Amino acid sequence: MASQLQSLSLPKPWRKTPLIHSTILSKHAGCQIYLKLETLQPSGSFKSRGIGNYLIQSLNSLSDPADREKLHFYIASGGSAGLACACAASMLGVSASIVVPTSASQYMIDKIKAAGGTVEQIGASWVEADTHVRNVIIPTAKERGEIATYVPAFDHQDIWDGHASLVPEVLEELEGAPDAIVCSVGGGGLMSGIVLGLDRAEASPKVLAVETEGAASLALSLKEGKLATLPAITSIANTLGARTVARQAFVYAGRENVKSVVLTDRDAMEGCVRFADDERIMVEAACGVTMAMCYGGRLKGALPDLREDSKVVIVVCGGCNITADMLTQYSMQLNQ
Ligand SMILES: *Cc1c(COP(=O)(O)O)cnc(C)c1O
Repeated sequence: MASQLQSLSLPKPWRKTPLIHSTILSKHAGCQIYLKLETLQPSGSFKSRGIGNYLIQSLNSLSDPADREKLHFYIASGGSAGLACACAASMLGVSASIVVPTSASQYMIDKIKAAGGTVEQIGASWVEADTHVRNVIIPTAKERGEIATYVPAFDHQDIWDGHASLVPEVLEELEGAPDAIVCSVGGGGLMSGIVLGLDRAEASPKVLAVETEGAASLALSLKEGKLATLPAITSIANTLGARTVARQAFVYAGRENVKSVVLTDRDAMEGCVRFADDERIMVEAACGVTMAMCYGGRLKGALPDLREDSKVVIVVCGGCNITADMLTQYSMQLNQ
């Protein structure tokens, strides 16, 4: 009973986001574009949903609510996942350490600290930071008596369940299913959550899963017909840089209504700049690549059946790794 009461009183570390019709993007794309504004999540990306839910489920699974004091979350990420974990942990009043590789930007480190996370800098790459978390930090913390809990960025049922929460919000707002949903794919957590949410609602619009060249691990797996690993990440959209997608994402992507699309870094930069100009919203390159689908006839190229009155939901996944200076640089590169 006590634990049930406690679970009821936990604040939700994400919020319901607006779905807005964009007149200008609809004009560009030649169909009705609706923007699901995940940029407005506490952490600036949809990851607040999945990681927030993962933290809540971990809290709810404590056999003794008093153990809450001993609970400590650990995640390896110098990006959106680390920031989402820091935000969710402080909203839930639990401790979290964010282990960032030395390649992480000072800008993101400052954001994570400002959100209330403890930052440790270890390892040259994400893989090294993650290995250190699993093999050193968590075992040591357990020896100290902590309930040290590893937080995955995309490959876990609780993460997908959290991301899935955006689907009923969209269906309610549109009073039914759209014709298509467009999202970015890194490790495929967002896409898996969307497909899961659609299954639960018994809806099956087209799902466009967008990646950049140099981070297209889903497209590689689909091409090889099995889960495959990229040798390296070479895209500027490093948030999409999971070398291997979650197995579940690969399985979902094999469905008839899911289509994989790969654009270039240049397209992603164009998406960031034009979206900022058209809707005055700043997003990082990982999201810019999805926004790029609204321009240059790309959406109709991928889905030739779309008509002018077709409804397409663009998941504006967000991301904090963007500044006015970066947008200016993208703009200059595009004009070269
Ligand atoms: C994490 C993230 C992605 C990729 O999500 P996955 O669940 O790893 O596929 C895309 N865009 C932004 C802004 C992100 O933070």
